[in-house]
Amino acid sequence: MRILLIEDHPTLRDVTAGHLASRGFVVDAFANARDALAAVAVASYDAVILDLGLPDMDGMDLLAEIRARTRRRLPALIASARDALPDRIRGLDAGADDYLVKPFDLLELEARLRAVLRRPGERAEDLLRSGGLEIDTVARTAAVDGRPLDLHRREFSLLEQLLRAGGRLVVRDALEERIYGLDEPVTPNALEALVSRLRRKLENSGSTARIETRRGIGYRLVAEERA
Ligand code: CA
Repeated sequence: MRILLIEDHPTLRDVTAGHLASRGFVVDAFANARDALAAVAVASYDAVILDLGLPDMDGMDLLAEIRARTRRRLPALIASARDALPDRIRGLDAGADDYLVKPFDLLELEARLRAVLRRPGERAEDLLRSGGLEIDTVARTAAVDGRPLDLHRREFSLLEQLLRAGGRLVVRDALEERIYGLDEPVTPNALEALVSRLRRKLENSGSTARIETRRGIGYRLVAEERA
C-alpha cells in the first residue's frame, strides 16, 4: 500500500513515515502542498494523510485539489492540531474519511489508516489464507500450515497484494506502485526478481499457492484446494 503523507513538521513527518514504513507501507512524505501535488501527478496512491496547517496551502484546499487530480476517489485522513468541533466537521464535510487530532498515537493512526484503506471488492480481513498459507497483515507475519515463513518486507507486500486480490490478476503497474516508493529507484527487472524470490520461497514452503505470470500484464496467486 502506497501512502502520500503531507506534514510540514520535520520530526513528526519522519516519525510517522518511519512507523508506517516499518509496518510495510510505502510512504512518500512531503513538507508542502506544491511537492505533494507534483507527486500526485506522477504516482498513484492508496491513501493520503495530511496536515491542515501547511506553509503554502490550507490542507482542506489541498485535499480538494488532490481529489480533483486523481481518478479514483483517494481515501484521506486528516491529522491536525485543530481540535475544535467546527474544524473537524469541516474536514469531514470536505471529504476526509477520518480526522485525527494531534498529538496522536502512531498505532491509532495506523489502525485508522487501515480502516480507510478497506476498499469495496477487496478482501478486507487482517488474516488472509490460501493453499495452507496464512498471513497476518497487522502483525506482518506469514506461515504455512502453522510453520513460520520468513519473508522480507517487499516479499510480504507482494504476497499481501496478491492475496487481497483473491486469485484475480493484479497488473504490474499496480504492484510496482504499491511496493516501491518514489525515492526507491525501480529497475525494469526488480518486480520479476522479487516475484522469483517469493515464488521460490512458496515452492519450498509446502504451500500449494503459486504465482502465475501473465507475461507483460501481471500476476495472480492460485492455489489447489486441499482436502
Ligand atoms: Ca503544520
